[in-house]
Amino acid sequence: MLKEYIPNSLMYITLLTVQDIVGKNGLNSILNYSGLTKYRDNFPPNDEKIEAMGSDFGKIVGGIIDVLGERGARPLLYNAGRRGFQLLIEKSPAMMGVMGVGLKLLSKRKRLEEVFKLGAENTNKVFGENQRSYVTDEGIVCELFDCYWCRGLKSDGPICFGEVGLDAELAKWATGDEHEVKEVLCRAKGDDVCRVIIYFEPKK
Ligand SMILES: [Zn+2]
Repeated sequence: MLKEYIPNSLMYITLLTVQDIVGKNGLNSILNYSGLTKYRDNFPPNDEKIEAMGSDFGKIVGGIIDVLGERGARPLLYNAGRRGFQLLIEKSPAMMGVMGVGLKLLSKRKRLEEVFKLGAENTNKVFGENQRSYVTDEGIVCELFDCYWCRGLKSDGPICFGEVGLDAELAKWATGDEHEVKEVLCRAKGDDVCRVIIYFEPKK
């Protein structure tokens, strides 16, 4: 189950990420649309206090999809996932620091297995039990059974583009390579889980 409140730093990074990509005016239109004007020129502090509403995260994602449509939202949310991960490392290094320890000593495949295992554990701790990951011959499978990207949303195709971008950036951080990441199941289109595959084989 997703928790009601998440760390301030995650809401701060979410807002900063969207602002980075669509600019201040773009962010303000999304906040207006989503009924979140409380964040206009008023980001939460970048600290670890558990005070931000978890549902506000979903409202921002839903607002982006409504305002831009699924096609327009796709690149924006994908890039937001990538940029969000970079900012997480930059602004909240404590959260990611432990993941990097000893990583360089492992093979690239083991690095991927390790960071996605730790990533799922970490996310379950921060957001509440919402995902599991496992390894197959072709790659890592992440299953979000309580998905914060598409909670409450309905769509024709998979829409958790933010998760795809985040996983692509995490994979690149771990191995230095671009890996293909695909969402094959999505709760928003009626599946039981959102299933994302991160392929071991790097892109050519
Ligand atoms: Zn989802």
